[in-house]
Amino acid sequence: MTGIDDLPVRDELRGKSPYGAPQLDVPVRLNTNENPYRLPEPLVERIAERVREAARDLNRYPDRDAVELRTQLAKYLTDTSGHEVGLANVWAANGSNEVIQQLLQTFGGPGRTAIGFEPSYSMHGLIARGTGTGWISGPRNDDFTIDVETAVQAIASQRPDVVFVTTPNNPTGNAVPPETVLALYEAAQAAKPSMVVVDEAYIEFSHGDSLLPLIEGRPNLVVSRTMSKAFGAAGLRLGYLAAHPAVVDAVQLVRLPYHLSAVTQATALAALEHTGTLLKYVEQLKAERDRLVSELRAIGFEVVESDANFVQFGRFEGPGGSHAAWQKILDQGVLVRDNGIPGWLRVSAGTPEENDAFLDAVRELKKEQSA
Ligand SMILES: *Cc1c(COP(=O)(O)O)cnc(C)c1O
Repeated sequence: MTGIDDLPVRDELRGKSPYGAPQLDVPVRLNTNENPYRLPEPLVERIAERVREAARDLNRYPDRDAVELRTQLAKYLTDTSGHEVGLANVWAANGSNEVIQQLLQTFGGPGRTAIGFEPSYSMHGLIARGTGTGWISGPRNDDFTIDVETAVQAIASQRPDVVFVTTPNNPTGNAVPPETVLALYEAAQAAKPSMVVVDEAYIEFSHGDSLLPLIEGRPNLVVSRTMSKAFGAAGLRLGYLAAHPAVVDAVQLVRLPYHLSAVTQATALAALEHTGTLLKYVEQLKAERDRLVSELRAIGFEVVESDANFVQFGRFEGPGGSHAAWQKILDQGVLVRDNGIPGWLRVSAGTPEENDAFLDAVRELKKEQSA
């Protein structure tokens, strides 16, 4: 039978697997950091209204520059960070994965490299590969913090063109202190200069503040965001970035014309009208996240401090390690995530009922382990 490797695919894609969290049909799904709450009915109504309006003009291409949407995203960023940004600072695409792809197409590419400090979001490396950008796996400490000195050294010696910093980090949950990001930025400028992309997909769940204000006076710093997590709109596919206006001009060199459909723009605008309601869910999820951290500790697990809507816990060192533990939790109807980090699993904060089901399952597991 003909397989991928029988086709004339690019060498760097041979033998690789696509991104894929299992999409299993189980009662409690806490594996992809989605928001567990369905959209509130008034928002659903508003989306229907705005999409109906947009539908009449679907004979035309959408606003190529998504001006109204970028203006509203800029307003959201200004309101929530206290740092004023405008239309010229903001760019939007189909999920922050597309934003990252556009950044790598613009600033990476063949003959260039990007670095991330792993374990971190695996898509950074996968998108690098897809854009022909060489990938460098930078180091993290055993407690999943970034050691400034070794990280700075890695940047100085490898001279990457793009530096990724995920904060709060996925899958570990911990935030990167602003001083560390600044040190990495300085190192990246001294080495090349290169672009630093701060992936803030989970920032709304953080105990700390966004690093958005750092874009001031730093044209090579980009903050990327998404509506997939805090806005509870993973199905919408809307990501965005904030940076110096020159960065926004630069990514337009690689974006496909009319990349953001009129339906997407209308839906995102409706969601932004309901920011207040959606951020209330974020507050509930933060409280549930903190509860997961303390209850997991009380049960006897090791837990990484979390500033995200998920928690990494362990350690599973017995026979089968974390994968066997993952299966045992699944057998009780709860799907969590095995990111392939030996000894650790990740659970997304769900509704209080879902989290209770998860905590019951891991209590069972712990009993078995200590028996
Ligand atoms: C979930 C996630 C994203 C979001 O990707 P979208 O394409 O916007 O859904 C980006 N970065 C990180 C670190 C994530 O975990």
